[in-house]
Amino acid sequence: MVDYLERRLKKVRTELSRQRLDAVLLTDVRNVRYLSNFSGDDSWLVVTSRDAALLTDSRYIEQARAECRHCEIVERAGSLSQACREQLTSRGVHRAGFEADSLTWGTWQALQDDSTEWRPTSGLVEKLRRVKDPSEIRNIKRAVAVAEECFRRATAGIRPGVTEVDVANEIEITLRRLGGDCSSFDTIVLFGERCSLPHGRPGGRVLKLGEPVLIDWGVRVGEYVSDLTRTLLPSTMNSRLEAVYRAVLAAQQAAISAARGGVAARSVDMAARRSLKRRGLDVHFRHGLGHGVGMCVHEGPVLSRHSSEELRAGMVVTIEPGVYIPGWGGVRIEDMVQITGGGCKVLTSLPKQLKDVCVL
Ligand code: ZN
Ligand code: ZN
Repeated sequence: MVDYLERRLKKVRTELSRQRLDAVLLTDVRNVRYLSNFSGDDSWLVVTSRDAALLTDSRYIEQARAECRHCEIVERAGSLSQACREQLTSRGVHRAGFEADSLTWGTWQALQDDSTEWRPTSGLVEKLRRVKDPSEIRNIKRAVAVAEECFRRATAGIRPGVTEVDVANEIEITLRRLGGDCSSFDTIVLFGERCSLPHGRPGGRVLKLGEPVLIDWGVRVGEYVSDLTRTLLPSTMNSRLEAVYRAVLAAQQAAISAARGGVAARSVDMAARRSLKRRGLDVHFRHGLGHGVGMCVHEGPVLSRHSSEELRAGMVVTIEPGVYIPGWGGVRIEDMVQITGGGCKVLTSLPKQLKDVCVL
């Protein structure tokens, strides 16, 4: 079996020598998990060029010993910062990196002593997490499968008369029954003209005949999450709604066709925008096209006009164009894709052609 943890630690060590650091202190709970397999919290990981140490406390000792094979488990008696100072001193670390995006100012002050010089690092582990290894892809696919089955079951009973909150609650209950741990973010369910709110919160709005339903949901299964959106339509609708739906679907297809390893993330966003522009709808698409998904629902890379990143094989990203017209409504379609060298694989399989979504 491939040892993914060893590979990840090796990449961190390469980065340490590039940045001329003796060690790095990881305080972000997901980064600690990514490099140690430890699933608890309130614990830090110190990685040096030779070894790694998980600093934890008596609540987690048994769990840490069972989960972590690549690091020494250190049971702290005092504070985490005190344990960290002791470990760095005993390992002869002079220059250490810390996670500038996760460590608080107060903790940084508590880490200061005469023997260690601290340097900020940013995105050191997050950068590695962008490209998923096969074990992560398997976990992401599980999170997608639960989300899709959840959608099929929870939306089967949507009829005029239900409220947005009713549907959101049904999704929450169903995903847990199907083995999901929890929603990966607050489920968005919007009816009618409220579909113009890209991140609206479900409320007491009652569904009326002839209205669309926008659902953006995701599931956490273990350490990995999914993030999908479907817009369901009434079987008889006005021509504008149909035209907008067709335009968003075409924009999404254009982006999926443009996504592959080696291209600028920006160019995939632009492919969707150009497609909408041909139908005069690009002005109503005001957020980015997508984002990376993995241990977090929003992680790198960012797919937007402002992105300077390049897509690489193994990245898992969402492609989610939308059209939002205030007072009228909106449509968004979101799928997750795995970037490959020659294109991308769509990881989601819920149907989205017009005939498939006209179910209300
Ligand atoms: Zn979403
Ligand atoms: Zn998303």
